[in-house]
Amino acid sequence: SSKSSNSPCLEFHFLTLFPDLFPAVLGTSLLGRAQEQGLASFTTHQLRDQAKDKHRTVDDTPYGGGAGMLMKADVLYAAWQAIVPERNPKTRTLLLSPQGPRFTQKRAHELLAYDRLVLICGHYEGLDERFIEECVDEELSIGDYVLTGGELPALVIADTVTRLIPGVVGNPASVADDSLENGLLKSPQYTRPRVWRDREVPEILLSGNHTAIAAWRDAESRRRTQAKRPDLWEAFLASGASLPPKKKS
Ligand code: SAM
Repeated sequence: SSKSSNSPCLEFHFLTLFPDLFPAVLGTSLLGRAQEQGLASFTTHQLRDQAKDKHRTVDDTPYGGGAGMLMKADVLYAAWQAIVPERNPKTRTLLLSPQGPRFTQKRAHELLAYDRLVLICGHYEGLDERFIEECVDEELSIGDYVLTGGELPALVIADTVTRLIPGVVGNPASVADDSLENGLLKSPQYTRPRVWRDREVPEILLSGNHTAIAAWRDAESRRRTQAKRPDLWEAFLASGASLPPKKKS
């Protein structure tokens, strides 16, 4: 690839039986623009193109019996090898799987370190385990529920990671301020009109006092994390990042 260091482009490769699911998401809004600006590139690879038999078979029944079909290791491997002809520390092969550790904002930041992310989208009952052993660096789950396929999870990961590429979101502060970036939820937000259905915008936000506004937002952020996500709040306290905001002297 011709990735120059001053204009890095993060390549996403999706291995899938359903490439039609991708263009609407990847072509819209920030993701579409990231691609136009050369900050990210998105390529879908139809696994079925790698099936060599007359019927273009991509799946088969599981040894030992059981429900459903499994994606064949040889077909997956041919598709993978076309993208990853040799191992490279800057290339990461990810399998979307309900068995992986939960994908997080933290992991999204870490994935920015790679040049190329290869996302394997399972379908049916999943994949022949030997392909996973042979090729997959890491499994990732988007949550404790089971989808029909890895396509939506792959899009979730591509969207989350692309948003973090410097230059994709116009104002970097808006990413740094997001919920979860510092382990807390973002404070509530308001726009015009000032009164809507008798509900007023908190007075402090109209004060023009930026120090006071920042302190209010910080306090709200803590308060609502504690209320809405006690699990995050516990982790935040445990991280030692929990010193109370400095009192104004
Ligand atoms: N039989 C598999 C199991 O029990 O582990 C589940 C297969 S699921 C119906 C089909 C595919 O959807 C999986 O191979 C995976 O790629 C994807 N998938 C389903 N749930 C997922 C999740 N929570 N996170 C990421 N990928 C998921």
